[in-house]
Amino acid sequence: MKMQKLADMLSSHDLNEIFEHVHTGIALLERDGTPLSWNTAFEFVKKSFNLEIKLETLLPPEERDSGLAKISNGIMHHWVGEFQIAGEEGVTLCSCMALPISNGRVLLIIESIESEFAVKKVIIKLSRQVKLFRIESEFTKKLAQNKQIEMEAVMAQASEVAHVDPLTFLPNRRTIVRELQDEVLRAERYPSQLSISIVDVDHFKNINDTYGHPIGDEVLRQVAYQLRDQVRHPDMVGRYGGEEFLIILPNSDKRAAAEQADRLCRQMRETVITVKGHKINVTLSIGVAQLKTGNDTWDSLLNRADNAMYETKNMGRDAWSIAD
Ligand code: GH3
Ligand code: MG
Ligand code: MG
Repeated sequence: MKMQKLADMLSSHDLNEIFEHVHTGIALLERDGTPLSWNTAFEFVKKSFNLEIKLETLLPPEERDSGLAKISNGIMHHWVGEFQIAGEEGVTLCSCMALPISNGRVLLIIESIESEFAVKKVIIKLSRQVKLFRIESEFTKKLAQNKQIEMEAVMAQASEVAHVDPLTFLPNRRTIVRELQDEVLRAERYPSQLSISIVDVDHFKNINDTYGHPIGDEVLRQVAYQLRDQVRHPDMVGRYGGEEFLIILPNSDKRAAAEQADRLCRQMRETVITVKGHKINVTLSIGVAQLKTGNDTWDSLLNRADNAMYETKNMGRDAWSIAD
């Protein structure tokens, strides 16, 4: 039955939200007759008839028992009620419908008899209203969903901007230093080895001076790409400064870090970087340091690696050194 379907759809919504502009009085009653929700028209009926919303009091005495029995058996009951309007003589006739719905609840529909109450018409009217409401709420839901997706994209972008170096797409200085801080904490909490490497491009200023800054940028991008390509998980590489990179090697001692440094130096030495027809050779100077648990902090570790890197520079570049 169409009406039953309609009533079932209603039980989860505030009636006034759906039927605010409908002239028929509609109320949803709990099993014991307590009103759960009702529309503005019902509010008016309630007030003008001074009604106590209880099924027992709404039903005329002569059909009270049979009506209540029908309703409690899940059968719709339809009756004409006489209501006393406060301050007026006589009674007003109203067409009433009590429709049992799920959970023992009852949907109550009251309309003045003068308005040519026709059950079928009311059902069609109400169904249309529910359909409209559903379309509207689907639309609102979709809008909200789209907004959510948009927001997530913006947040993801913002987070990327905050964490990624725009030139090389490597983690930026802040991010790689934060990673280092985390790894130092981890290595102290769950005693394990931790090493880092500071990688600096040799004579990079010459590249800028010879070919121009934009080509220097492209060279940096390609160096970063190579580093990322050769540094494997769980090692991490980030852009630490202009032409300096920081590699973190969790669970690795300085010997393992030095092996990696040696490989990186060799591979870079053997690579010819081609930018706009220019063939450019690049070499790296690397400083390796291993965390001394209990002695080092994240920044003293960085300092030691930095000093080792400068030692490499002093020795003639294109090589690696290990901090004591
Ligand atoms: P060294 O071998 O001693 O490291 O020599 P270097 O020339 O590499 O060292 P220096 O620190 O004197 O110069 C680094 C240069 O890197 C200077 C700076 O202009 C350049 N640089 C830093 N960031 C960027 C960048 O994002 N793009 C370009 N094109 N150049 C950069
Ligand atoms: Mg430098
Ligand atoms: Mg340099």
